[in-house]
Amino acid sequence: MTETPIRVRFAPSPTGMFHVGGARSALFNWALARQRSGGEFVLRIEDTDAARNKPEWTEGIIRALAWLGISEADPHFEGPYFQSAYADKHRETAERLYKDGKAYFCDCTREQVQERRDNPHLGYDGFCRDRGLEPGPGRALRFRVPDGGPTVVDDQIRGRVEFDNASIEDFVIARADGSPLFVLANVVDDVEMGINEVIRGEEHLSNTPKQQLLWEALGHTPPGWAHLPVIVNEKRQKLSKRRDKVALESYQGEGYLPEAMVNYLMLLGWAPGEDREIMPWSEMEPLFRISEVNSSSAFFDEKKLRAFNGEYIRALSADEFAERCRPWLAPGTAPWPAENYDDAVFRAIAPLAQSRVTVLSEIVPNVDFLFLDAPVEDEKSWSKAMKPGVGAEMLTAALERFADPGLAWEAEPLKAALEEVGTGLGLKLGKAQAPIRVAVTGRTVGLPLFESLELLGRERVRARLAAALAELTAREAAAGASE
Ligand code: GLU
Repeated sequence: MTETPIRVRFAPSPTGMFHVGGARSALFNWALARQRSGGEFVLRIEDTDAARNKPEWTEGIIRALAWLGISEADPHFEGPYFQSAYADKHRETAERLYKDGKAYFCDCTREQVQERRDNPHLGYDGFCRDRGLEPGPGRALRFRVPDGGPTVVDDQIRGRVEFDNASIEDFVIARADGSPLFVLANVVDDVEMGINEVIRGEEHLSNTPKQQLLWEALGHTPPGWAHLPVIVNEKRQKLSKRRDKVALESYQGEGYLPEAMVNYLMLLGWAPGEDREIMPWSEMEPLFRISEVNSSSAFFDEKKLRAFNGEYIRALSADEFAERCRPWLAPGTAPWPAENYDDAVFRAIAPLAQSRVTVLSEIVPNVDFLFLDAPVEDEKSWSKAMKPGVGAEMLTAALERFADPGLAWEAEPLKAALEEVGTGLGLKLGKAQAPIRVAVTGRTVGLPLFESLELLGRERVRARLAAALAELTAREAAAGASE
């Protein structure tokens, strides 16, 4: 027996930034399409809402999918198709449903519809059902929902979901101007494109009985359905673009690796089992089963995503890590003058940063001291490190010690030298380091100090210590004068 190859689709509306929820739907569909030979993932851009669509959102969707590894070049990828190109088919189908008596025209005004909804009937009461209205201005086309019996949606995640037909109103499929509504256009396209599995977000579950009725009215077997659980924030609220960080691009911009993102998104409602969570796409793809997806809401835990990302970053080779950091080091993006950048210096320090950063953009504050003319000014770090009795004393003593040409300018001897200076002032190494670190890097936390000093070089280190000392003296004088 030959099985019909699976044909799934991802059908985003290009009305905004590409959402992490959309990315999860796309990935689940992608996994299923790629599991078997002949499986296809159809990308259909539902661009019929001209007022809200923008070409850049469409480009953003295609770019985001490619970033996730859903590539147009893959043989399992089909499209993109644009819904707007099928407008004639949508209109023809609406007409056919009318001619077959499966839909009727309705001239009720919005107010009348509202009134009819308010009476005990659930939804529009079918007032125009048997009035035999011809097409005409101000007349919308409504689908005649069959009387009696429930419509049963067999959902692969939720099981059997029953909708009483009496509670499904005769819904509009084409507006008075003839333009089709989402419920219809979406089904017509799915039928035309031979889609046999519809996997989409839970928010569409209420459309499903209507759409299933349309499939049947058009003489086709409805597809398999699966409605993915909503994604919620830490307050268990549905992720919203107004409140939460939902755009995939923001994560990309911060330096999340696509492989970490893909791994994390796959776990929003599904788990590969055996207590494994960190798992590359290549292993997840064949394991994924839609029937194993959980119906309860999935918590989008940014902290966990960040931890995943850190793990993926640490697993990169040193070269790969340096490569991936490039976009953040590029002229125009990086905060230092382009001519100060030295790739050999970056490559030397990169392995130390690799174990510390959790998103790639953090590379910048870790290495900026090497390429800026002067370290960043961070008042908090400064006041923490430059305490009276420690700051000026340490800076002065280190300046002197570091001037000694007999001191080899390498991490180990530098550490020993600073330890000795600190001991002379009755300070442990941790305390003794702080003013030096802030003077040289601008911050109290960062990469290992002595390797940093080695890379920066004796002259620049001494110049920064001297500058910090001058600043500290000036501040103390100003404070003294104002007392
Ligand atoms: N264009 C719809 C949306 O973005 C897709 C609906 C579907 O997947 O059927 O919500």
